[in-house]
Amino acid sequence: MEKILNYVNGEFVEPSSGKYIDNYDPAEGKVYSLIPDSDGRDVAAATDGAKLAFKGWSSLAVEKRSAILTHLADLIDRDIEKLSMAESQDSGKPLSLAKSLDIPRAASNIRFYATAAVHFASEAHITDTEAINYTTRSPVGVAGCISPWNLPLYLFTWKIAPALAAGCTVVAKPSELTPMTAYLFSRLCKEAGLPKGVLNVLHGLGPKVGQAIIEHPEITAISFTGGTVTGKKIAATAAPMLKKISLELGGKNPNIVFADCDLELALQTSISSSFTNQGEICLCGSRIFVERSLYDHFVKEFVKRTKALTIGDPLEATTRIGSLVSEAHMKKVLSYIELAKQEGGKLLTGGTRVEVKGRCAGGYFVEPTVVVGLDHLCRTNQEEIFGPVVTIMPFDEEAEVVEYANSTTYGLSATLWTENLKKAHRISAQLKSGIVWVNCWLLRDLRTPFGGMKQSGIGREGGWEAMRFFTETKNVCIKL
Ligand code: NAD
Repeated sequence: MEKILNYVNGEFVEPSSGKYIDNYDPAEGKVYSLIPDSDGRDVAAATDGAKLAFKGWSSLAVEKRSAILTHLADLIDRDIEKLSMAESQDSGKPLSLAKSLDIPRAASNIRFYATAAVHFASEAHITDTEAINYTTRSPVGVAGCISPWNLPLYLFTWKIAPALAAGCTVVAKPSELTPMTAYLFSRLCKEAGLPKGVLNVLHGLGPKVGQAIIEHPEITAISFTGGTVTGKKIAATAAPMLKKISLELGGKNPNIVFADCDLELALQTSISSSFTNQGEICLCGSRIFVERSLYDHFVKEFVKRTKALTIGDPLEATTRIGSLVSEAHMKKVLSYIELAKQEGGKLLTGGTRVEVKGRCAGGYFVEPTVVVGLDHLCRTNQEEIFGPVVTIMPFDEEAEVVEYANSTTYGLSATLWTENLKKAHRISAQLKSGIVWVNCWLLRDLRTPFGGMKQSGIGREGGWEAMRFFTETKNVCIKL
């Protein structure tokens, strides 16, 4: 059985413990590879490597740094078939999605920040005739990057790319549920000529090796994407150590459909924003609010299209809904469907585990599920389910739907459907979320700030925001 290895100081090594954890193919429900069970000793070795590499990497001419990263992006493009296959097998997502979204975006992340490194600039301020101030931004040192399982290589590279581009060296940990593409990526780093120690990739459990990364005193900045509960633990550890932290956490995003929308576009996109990646995207719009005059028609059409989604083997070209990432996650999603029923919700379609024939007979598949008849304040509508489950609720007034939309502890993204521009501005301004999409969803420009309000996180990724996060700012004031 294939053994994944840690990537420490330019070498592929076994974990200090000598122990391994099972890695599942969730579409088959079978173990297919082994993951290092790393711990604090591996973090210490990786951090030593990263510290040694820092001087050389941070002082390398930016054009050279940029060229290595560009080469790395080209290698991802070259290996798109292999990486897509690995991503699909590790996570259960449709191969077609890995090939059209995850892996191309991983290459874009690296290429985007390869160019950002060259264009990163700072300001100067002339203070009347008295002084000139200039600002410098130097890499913070060794950064810790921890990522989740839903968009494995996509989110892993989204953190690592700006850290490396800014001149930091990195100790990174992908999710233990989906480690394979990060491992393949570490092999590409070696091939691309990334100097040893610049990126170190450790595999293993969050509370063990992840926690050790957060606790290491010489890892001075932490960029984390994952659940809100984990984010709070990370903040509790990092805050007394006065580390810089960037937290990208959970969401319970509203999708607001006004009667004056482009209905066909709203329906098509709402199906995607509900069920893409089995609903396992932090940006999915899991609470759909529809203006009452359109409600019955929208619900009927939405349910018809949901029923038409093909669930099955992620490797089949026609599959739209693959398996959930793990048995534990499937059980969590099914328990929320039970809760929705207990809370008085009516299931219009879905609600059960799907038995797929053949190779995937043991896989963790759940039908896309549509629930109506729930109050916006019930638990089903307040807690993150992170699966193929959406609720649909009617509304009458603008103020009412804004209140519904803002009623959760989360504030990551929101989607809005209307052809009335003034209304779009008015509602966008009132929504408490870091991202508002009007008449679209997941339309991303990597230069824009990305992140959430309230319990969806602290800080922003994307564009210069991420480059600034990984640098320390200094102002030098010179009297004229
Ligand atoms: P998770 O919080 O369980 O795990 C995320 C990562 O943190 C994993 O690598 C895990 O091993 C590690 N980890 C766990 N405990 C740790 C600890 N004590 N110290 C350090 N690291 C630790 O999240 P998940 O289940 O992998 O991902 C799903 C969650 O991620 C959802 O809540 C989703 O909304 C969120 N998410 C947010 C964004 C965003 O950009 N805001 C993007 C994707 C996913």
